Amino acid sequence: MRLILIGPPGSGKGTQAKLLSQKFGLCHFGTGDILREAVRLSTPAGKQAQPYVSSGQLVPDDLVNEMVADRFRRDDRPENFVMDGYPRTLAQAASFDQVLRQQFLDLNCVVVLLVPDEEIVRRLSGRRFCPKCQATYHILFKPPKTAGICDECGSALVQREDDKEGTVRKRLQIYHQNNVDLLTQYHNQKLVREVDGVGPIEVVFAKIAEVCKMH
Ligand code: AMP
Repeated sequence: MRLILIGPPGSGKGTQAKLLSQKFGLCHFGTGDILREAVRLSTPAGKQAQPYVSSGQLVPDDLVNEMVADRFRRDDRPENFVMDGYPRTLAQAASFDQVLRQQFLDLNCVVVLLVPDEEIVRRLSGRRFCPKCQATYHILFKPPKTAGICDECGSALVQREDDKEGTVRKRLQIYHQNNVDLLTQYHNQKLVREVDGVGPIEVVFAKIAEVCKMH
């Protein structure tokens, strides 16, 4: 099974991709995670990506295309995968299409998670994490015992730069702008399956498995 998960930031793409990879043995390819790790390690790609990632803007297409193409050209390229956060623009879709064709791999489906913008803002702007032990919290759904303090190690919790409300709204705007063209292309290929992304994780997961006919 080879699928692309599309959805706004905070729609649960990462969580669902992880579950899909565990349950169906797919390689989970999350460009956001890979880029954040590159930024943390200060690799050459990470240094280039840093200003974009922290301000919620898209990293230039060439950089992310090269990163993905590189992975697919290796001998241990993924045969079955779930793409999480890539492609995000028409130029990325065109590049990915070419990479897959070179590798003789067909896509099976493109799942779009539908979540209203206000729900996304509520989910993302409430997230907090501990810079020391990396524990994660949410001010509404998983609050720490003492507001602003990590339960595990007592450090002051912080908000990720790209979770701040203004940045989230900007990321949503960018998502909607790019998505129109991106989805038109996959609609034409009859690959798109829309799934309601609001609700318990297991319910959303079951719907994805159903529309992709994975049992
Ligand atoms: P995500 O966790 O998928 O929302 O990604 C976090 C950040 O990484 C985004 O706000 C972008 O700055 C960058 N990023 C991730 N995937 C891509 C992509 N396919 N194209 C451009 N930038 C990306």
